[in-house]
Amino acid sequence: MTLASMRPVHGFAIPVLLYHSVDDEPAVGQEPYTVTPKLFGEHVAAIADAGCTAMTISELVAGLRGDRPLPARPVAVTFDDTFANTQAAVERLREAGIPSTIYVQTNRIGLPDGPSVAALRELAAAGTEVGAHTVSHPYLESIPLADATQEIAESRSVLEQHMQRRIETFAYPHGAYDRHVRAAVIAAGFTSAVAVKNALSHPLDDPFAIARWTVMHDTSTERLALVLTGHGLPLAWRKERRRTRAARRARRLRRRVETLKRRSDDAGAP
Ligand SMILES: [Zn+2]
Repeated sequence: MTLASMRPVHGFAIPVLLYHSVDDEPAVGQEPYTVTPKLFGEHVAAIADAGCTAMTISELVAGLRGDRPLPARPVAVTFDDTFANTQAAVERLREAGIPSTIYVQTNRIGLPDGPSVAALRELAAAGTEVGAHTVSHPYLESIPLADATQEIAESRSVLEQHMQRRIETFAYPHGAYDRHVRAAVIAAGFTSAVAVKNALSHPLDDPFAIARWTVMHDTSTERLALVLTGHGLPLAWRKERRRTRAARRARRLRRRVETLKRRSDDAGAP
């Protein structure tokens, strides 16, 4: 079947794209998630040509909640972690008429490969939504809940101070969350949150765990175009997939083993 012959899943599947770095030279460890500027340019053209209505996450969530009309084919483009190169990528999208949402890990602000406060303000002034992505990017469901709550709330207050505006949306680092973390995000005053799930969002998706699809270094423009029609990916599940739960159990077990090992090392120390 050709792409042109595929009927878009109007009004149901909502692609929410997740980009990280856009660079010719990926930072160490970022290789799988770094898209070259050349490929990104092709992606921007594909998004612009897809006939979708691009929205920020808060606009999309307002649509999901029924506070504003949801266009027939919404799409949202998001960036996590916020590299120095994110500003240029966001501007390329904006030149093509595509708004986007960036999620900032606040301890990266001002670093050589992170965003400056001035850059963040410039982006926000031009209509980019700025969301929070914790202070230090931990697996929130694997650390004590008090620490997770602090990471969530502090990233919001730091950004609000820098931006002098309300910060409405949050992204779970590594897409990792559980019901306690989700509740902490709501308690911190956010009105939405994005997860990963590598699935399509839809009108019944959880506004505090919106499904996103990670764009990888080798995501072809053809594949992207297919996803933009609402095909090629499963719809988001409302409950967490078993795989996510299993990964969390494995991390918890590993931590417990490490703690026990430390204790026995301490006990055995001369
Ligand atoms: Zn991240």
